[in-house]
Amino acid sequence: MSELLVVGSVAFDTIHNHLGSHPRILGGSAVYASLAASQLASVRLVGVVGKDFPREAVDMLRMRGIDTTGLEVANGETFHWEGRYADDLTSRETIQTDLNVFADFEPKIPAAFRDTPYVMLGNIAPELQLCVLEQVENPQLVIADTMNLWIDTALDALKELLTRVDILVINEEEARQLTGYHHPLAVAEALRVMGPETVIVKRGEYGALLFLEEDIFCAPAYPLKSVADPTGAGDSFAGGFLGYLAENGHTDLRQAVICGSSTASFCVQDVGIGALVELSREDIESRIRDFRELTCF
Ligand code: AMP
Repeated sequence: MSELLVVGSVAFDTIHNHLGSHPRILGGSAVYASLAASQLASVRLVGVVGKDFPREAVDMLRMRGIDTTGLEVANGETFHWEGRYADDLTSRETIQTDLNVFADFEPKIPAAFRDTPYVMLGNIAPELQLCVLEQVENPQLVIADTMNLWIDTALDALKELLTRVDILVINEEEARQLTGYHHPLAVAEALRVMGPETVIVKRGEYGALLFLEEDIFCAPAYPLKSVADPTGAGDSFAGGFLGYLAENGHTDLRQAVICGSSTASFCVQDVGIGALVELSREDIESRIRDFRELTCF
């Protein structure tokens, strides 16, 4: 099992959806990704929280084997994001983003973490993602996630970042926005020209597409009877994906995509991190077997 560095947001989320309102529950890109990866790799989390962040939440992460040495506690309040989902959960609007301690965050990678071979740059400002890359030493694999906010507000830094990552994970709408293309092959080609050798386009309830130089792989989303909350699905996908590669070596990206699809499918079955906290290795493997049955013909 290799080490995996996860940098991203650690948040309180207020989520409004068809099940009601869920005020100030634990979330953030780094939390979702770390929990999803924690059954597969030794996760080292780097992020920032405020003085209001509960001790029990840190303990819960540690209980899952996540090294929280890089979780800085700053003066002020923890990052807070509030969003409302449409009843069919296919779209959401951001109601409020309170950066709080995140506004002055400068990621500091602890000396003991700098040689981590697998690095996941979760969804934070691209300047901060670049700042992490300045501090890590010859990582074997760097994967980055991003969002529309940074395409709108930090395009130059995002483009610089793309020249320095191996794998970009991005949702379909944002990939179209970033490239100006609509159809999958054109989008992927344009993204790969920007830098990353490998591109994964997340398509929500329709699964994910993996684009390599000579190969394309199409993974479905796991068919579920109901979805409780899609928040963090993308981050859980990335955590499961990179967790698989950290565990097995940078070999089979198709298997890793299915592993990511498995962890993401658990994520959406409960509100917030509920399902990920309970997730076992056997759960992940059993769902990977289901995927094999589902897609074999
Ligand atoms: P996802 O549903 O995969 O897009 O991820 C949702 C998570 O992203 C939530 O837990 C939020 O706390 C976090 N998030 C939302 N906006 C931002 C932002 N601007 N920067 C960092 N994290 C964010």
